[in-house]
Amino acid sequence: MTEKGSFGYSLEMITSKERDQTWENLCKKCGLCCFEKIEDEQGTIFFTSTPCRYLDVVTRECKIYPRRFEIYPDCIKLTEDLVGKLPWLHDGCGYREALDVSKKRNPARRKVSDDE
Ligand code: SF4
Repeated sequence: MTEKGSFGYSLEMITSKERDQTWENLCKKCGLCCFEKIEDEQGTIFFTSTPCRYLDVVTRECKIYPRRFEIYPDCIKLTEDLVGKLPWLHDGCGYREALDVSKKRNPARRKVSDDE
């Protein structure tokens, strides 16, 4: 029996590089994960309109993507494990959709502007 990854591909048939590319292709390039977020005392997460300094807000792509962890160590590499745990990753994220992460895991959140 062929083992399937949680995003539907045979893990035995692809190399690790192909697997990485397949994984990265799940991103919809919406850029929302690259905006600053605020968490209140109740654990509710609010998205702000302040992007990461390295996000190209027009293309919604990272301007330093190949070297992002070197240049900006706070950047988080999304893994299958993390996608299921990060409360601020929105439900429309391509990774969350591919992994069919339950919406119950995400607390309510809303988008706010910086001037609120
Ligand atoms: S929120 Fe998800 S789909 Fe959107 S850019 Fe971030 S990783 Fe990609």
